[in-house]
Amino acid sequence: LKGGATKDIPFARAESRTRVYAVASGKGGVGKSTVTVNLAVALSARGLRVGVVDADVYGFSVPRMLGVTGRPTRVADMIMPPVAQGVKVISVGMFVDGNTPVVWRGPMLHRALEQFLADVYWGDELDVLLLDLPPGTGDVAISSAQLIPTAEIIVITTPQTAAAEVAERAGAIALQTRQKVVGVVENMAGLVLPDGTRVDVFGTGGGEQVAASLSRLTGTQVPLLGSIPLDPDVREAGDVGLPVVLRDPHSPAAQALSTVADHL
Ligand code: ADP
Repeated sequence: LKGGATKDIPFARAESRTRVYAVASGKGGVGKSTVTVNLAVALSARGLRVGVVDADVYGFSVPRMLGVTGRPTRVADMIMPPVAQGVKVISVGMFVDGNTPVVWRGPMLHRALEQFLADVYWGDELDVLLLDLPPGTGDVAISSAQLIPTAEIIVITTPQTAAAEVAERAGAIALQTRQKVVGVVENMAGLVLPDGTRVDVFGTGGGEQVAASLSRLTGTQVPLLGSIPLDPDVREAGDVGLPVVLRDPHSPAAQALSTVADHL
């Protein structure tokens, strides 16, 4: 891959022990950020040192979902990231004014991501860095692969066939970037009503479909890491800034998310 890093990125060094996961999806609104923040706090609760880079330039929502109140500060030539729920967080949203839309082009996105990776003070070596990518197969996904070639990809999809097809394309980028796809997470699976009936709002099978297709494409076993039910509490937990694995750890959604974290 051309267009590598111009700065020293600790995560890209051969001796780095940080596992970097790039969380990808085919399209927006499938719960990529929700899964990212829940995995982050689940891993942090296990005593791991966790950082999150919210690189979803068009839909940054990680700060709200993690309840980040602080702002990044500058110390000498480093950027100190705010910490929320034990997780260090940096987001594109912290560098724009209010709710202004981000209109950056590829090269600017590349530089911003590079800065997040090289100039942010992540402290003692992180155990895990999660990268919330924008949906699709755009510039940021390519940049992240160039900047951290060892980053492994987690693909998020809904159970819907149409969504799964788009998610397969997002995962297939790994073939070109030679990255490993760690697995697929199906989100927004069956909604369980108070009377116990299950409604498959977005159909079924999308997660299995993406896992099977990426296994075929990459020639390696890409597992389905978990299936997270559709649950209003998941949405609400995100809205109040306390991810469901912390807010309601015994709920089926939180349990499913914790199981995904076990696989990482
Ligand atoms: P993306 O990052 O893929 O754009 P988000 O994580 O922002 O998606 O999720 C989109 C919306 O769906 C958010 O309002 C979020 O709270 C909600 N959501 C995500 N996963 C679930 C779920 N399992 N059950 C209910 N709501 C969910």
